[in-house]
Amino acid sequence: MFAAGALLLIIGAATGFAGGYWIAVRRPRVPVPPVTPTPKPLPPPPRPSLYPMQVLRGEDIAALLERDALELADELRPFLTDVARQHGATEVTLWRHSGGDGGALEIVAWSGDGMLPLAALWGTPPERALVQWSAAEQMVGFERRDGEPRVAICPVRFASGESAGAIVLITAERFGTSRDALRDWLPRHAAQVGRLVSLFSTRNEVARQSRFTRALLRIARDLQRTHQPDVLEKALCSYAVEVTGGEFALLVRWDAAQRAGRVAASSEQTPETLREGLVTPGSVAGTACVEGSAAFWEDARFLAERGGLLREDDRGIVAGSMAVLPMMRGAQSIGALVVGASRPGVLRALEIRNGSVLSALAVNALEAAWELAESSRRSRTDALTGLWNRRHFDEQLERVLAETDRFGGSCALVIADIDFFKKVNDTYGHDAGDVVLQRVSAVLHEGVRTVDVCARLGGEELALILPQTSPEGAMELAERLRQRIEAMTVAHAGAAIGVTVSMGVATYRAGDDGKGSMFKRADERLYAAKHGGRNAVVG
Ligand code: GH3
Ligand code: MG
Ligand code: MG
Repeated sequence: MFAAGALLLIIGAATGFAGGYWIAVRRPRVPVPPVTPTPKPLPPPPRPSLYPMQVLRGEDIAALLERDALELADELRPFLTDVARQHGATEVTLWRHSGGDGGALEIVAWSGDGMLPLAALWGTPPERALVQWSAAEQMVGFERRDGEPRVAICPVRFASGESAGAIVLITAERFGTSRDALRDWLPRHAAQVGRLVSLFSTRNEVARQSRFTRALLRIARDLQRTHQPDVLEKALCSYAVEVTGGEFALLVRWDAAQRAGRVAASSEQTPETLREGLVTPGSVAGTACVEGSAAFWEDARFLAERGGLLREDDRGIVAGSMAVLPMMRGAQSIGALVVGASRPGVLRALEIRNGSVLSALAVNALEAAWELAESSRRSRTDALTGLWNRRHFDEQLERVLAETDRFGGSCALVIADIDFFKKVNDTYGHDAGDVVLQRVSAVLHEGVRTVDVCARLGGEELALILPQTSPEGAMELAERLRQRIEAMTVAHAGAAIGVTVSMGVATYRAGDDGKGSMFKRADERLYAAKHGGRNAVVG
C-alpha cells in the first residue's frame, strides 16, 4: 500500500521500536469520519484520440511519492524544521492520506534531525480523525488541551489542486505564535509544501523522461543493426514495454491494400488470447491502422462493450489501460504497436508519447527487414506452384539430415513424378499441364505438416522432406497422397483430366551410413515405380 511502510520500518529499526507497533499506529481501530471519495473519472471519449501531453495528476504524484518516499522526506525536512522554529512547535509533520481503506494516513515527511517523528507515537485515533477531517474539508483545525491549542492542522493540496493530505504542528507546551497567526500562516506553509512536493515530482518525472529518451536513442541504434524480421519484431515489443511503462506489447503487421493484419510478435507478458491471429479492420487495433491515428485509453475497460481489440467479433478487452500506435509510411500504416496494462491509469500520456516516437523510429527498419525477407522468400519459391524451389530444397535436406544426426530418430524423403505428363501437355495443351501441376502440388502441400518441406525439383518432379518420420510413416503418407491424386480430376477448358503420380521413398536413421545417398535411393525407387507400371509408391 505504502512504500513508506518500509520507511517506517527503517525508522523503527533505527530507534529501537518494534515493527508491530507501527502497524498498530497506522491502522486506526475506531471508526474515523469518512474521507470525501475521489471523484469518478469522466466517461472516456467515444472515439479514440491521442490525449495532449498532460500535466502531472495527483495519482501520478502519489505514485512518485511511494517510489521516492525517503528522498522526499529528506527534501522537505529543512522546510518543516523552519516552520517548527517559526511557530515554536515541537514537531511539524506532513501526512498523506492515500484514499481507500478508510483513508489510510501516513507520515511522509517531518521536521527535526531525521530521527523518529514524535507524531508517529502521538498518532492516536482522535488526532488521526482530525487530520482526515482537515484534509477532507480543507480547513485549518486545532486540537486543544487545557484551553490551549496543542495541535494545529492544515490541509495540503498539490499544484494540480488535488488534496494531498495535511501538515500537522504539535507542541509540548504552547505555540510561539498566536492562534490567529497560525490561522494566517498555516495555509501559506501548506501551499509551499504543495509546491515543493509538486516540484519534487516534476524533477523526478524529468529524470524519468530523460531515462526514457536515453533508452530511445539506444533503441534507435539497435533498430538500425537488426535486419532479421522475427528478431526485430520481438525486440520492438520489448522496447515498447520499456519506454511506455506498459505491461505488455504486441506488434500488428498491417496490409493497407488488403485492409487486414495479423499479430507478428508479442512481449512476454501478453495475454494468451492476443498473442497471435488476424486483425480485422473493424477492431480497435484495425481501426487505428485504417485511420492512421494513434489511440490511447487511460481507462480501457469500457472498450469491452465496444468490440474486440484485434477482431471485432471478439468480446472482452483484457487491458485496463491501452494504446494503439500505428506505424506510418506516408499516409498508410504498415502496422501498429499495441501497448497494454492490466489496470486503468497505468499507461500515461507522457509515456505513450515515447511509444509513438518508437513507432516512428521503427518504420524504416521494420519495412526494410520485411522486404528483405520477402525477396529472400521469393528467391526460394517456385512461381508456378508456390512450392519451395530446388535451391531451398537442397539446403533444407542438408539441415534435416544434420538435425536427425543431432537429435536422433529418422527422417524421410519422398520424390514424386507425374505419370505421362507429356501426354497431358500434348492432349490438352501446356496450360492444362500447368493447372494439373498446380493441383498436384496443392494436394502434396496440404497433405503434410508445417515442419515438412514441400518443393518442386524441376519439371513435374516434386519432393517432400519429412523430419522425424519413420519409414512406415513415410510410406503411409506417400500412399495416402497417391490415392488422393488418383481420386482427383482436374477440370480445364471443358475437359476432365485424370492424373496419377509415381513415388520413391527413402529414409535415413541417425548414425546409419547412406546420408549422402538418400536422394539417389529415393530417385531409384521412383524409377522402379515407373517401371513397375506407374501410379505406385516404392519404398
Ligand atoms: P513419366 O510417366 O515417365 O514420368 O512420363 P512423363 O511424360 O511424365 O515424363 P517426361 O519426363 O518424358 O515428360 C515430362 C514433361 O513435363 C516434359 C515437359 O514438357 C513437361 N513439363 C515440364 N515442366 C512443365 C511445366 O512447367 N508445365 C507444363 N505444362 N509442362 C511441363
Ligand atoms: Mg513424368
Ligand atoms: Mg519427369
